[in-house]
Amino acid sequence: MIKNLKLAASRPDLRRSVVDVNGIKVGQEFVVIAGPCSVETEMQTIKTAIAVKKAGAKMLRGGAFKPRTSPYAFQGLGLKGLKILDKAKKETGLPIVTEVVDTRDVSWVGEYADVLQIGARNMQNFSLLREVGKSGKPIFLKRGMYSTLEEWLNCAEYILAEGNPNVILCERGIRTFETYTRNTLDLSMIPAVHTESHLPVFVDPSHGTGILSMIEPMSLAACIAGADGLEIEVHTDPASALSDKEQQMPIPLFEVLMEKLRRTLAFMEELNAQAQAFAPEGKVQGPEISGEAPNHEDLTTKSTHPGKTFTDAVD
Ligand code: PEP
Ligand code: MN
Repeated sequence: MIKNLKLAASRPDLRRSVVDVNGIKVGQEFVVIAGPCSVETEMQTIKTAIAVKKAGAKMLRGGAFKPRTSPYAFQGLGLKGLKILDKAKKETGLPIVTEVVDTRDVSWVGEYADVLQIGARNMQNFSLLREVGKSGKPIFLKRGMYSTLEEWLNCAEYILAEGNPNVILCERGIRTFETYTRNTLDLSMIPAVHTESHLPVFVDPSHGTGILSMIEPMSLAACIAGADGLEIEVHTDPASALSDKEQQMPIPLFEVLMEKLRRTLAFMEELNAQAQAFAPEGKVQGPEISGEAPNHEDLTTKSTHPGKTFTDAVD
């Protein structure tokens, strides 16, 4: 059990948190967030938004502020990018997930974003965490590439402590001695988060591996391991992308992945239903959870985990 966690910790009397994003129940239904690494042009973003929606994605991602390793690399379109995302939202109805990198930007970026993303490099930017906590908006908190589960959940605690219960975690890979992949995608964090916390946890297989051919197997594995959703980079023409061209999925591959995810979720549902029959005493028990009772009454809208599906048909 992780010490010093109050609001982020699981409790026997607490169901898992459901974060409502424009009616999408994160933590209850399986949610795929898809879209380009960076917003580059209106055409690229809107075309991608329409395609990922058609394939079954529930939210659109796209960076307008790009924290890049090199100061000379493409840094994102800023406000212009947010306006393009807004157009894509008007066109498709998809809520927008986009990163905020500076405390000074939180309120105005929040006018365009439905979910504010905190990137791996800013996970422990405590003033930024406090500021997004004050915003009350849903926050997508990515795991820092050098961070432990304890550090990650304490960062969620910073947001919750500001009175914002709408936190979604995202495992995106960590730095290890392995250099074959861009990062080492730590799928063991899915059950670990579900044991230690009531917060939903997503997986980002795009930054987690950095390798296109690995996105599908890691997505399916994350789904089977109990992730609440995925964040996947999709581009209309990955070869011409201004960032992360090696890992962005072309639309046809994304469509195949979504169909495989749908079938995986249906299989998992069937398996869970059957498990009720073959488990001893006819009842399947989740792992036992324990934790100190937080004195926070807002965290009451919870749901049980198993049996997630995509909720609606694709139009
Ligand atoms: C991103 O999702 O756009 C991103 C930069 O990811 P991360 O912060 O996990 O590196
Ligand atoms: Mn990227």
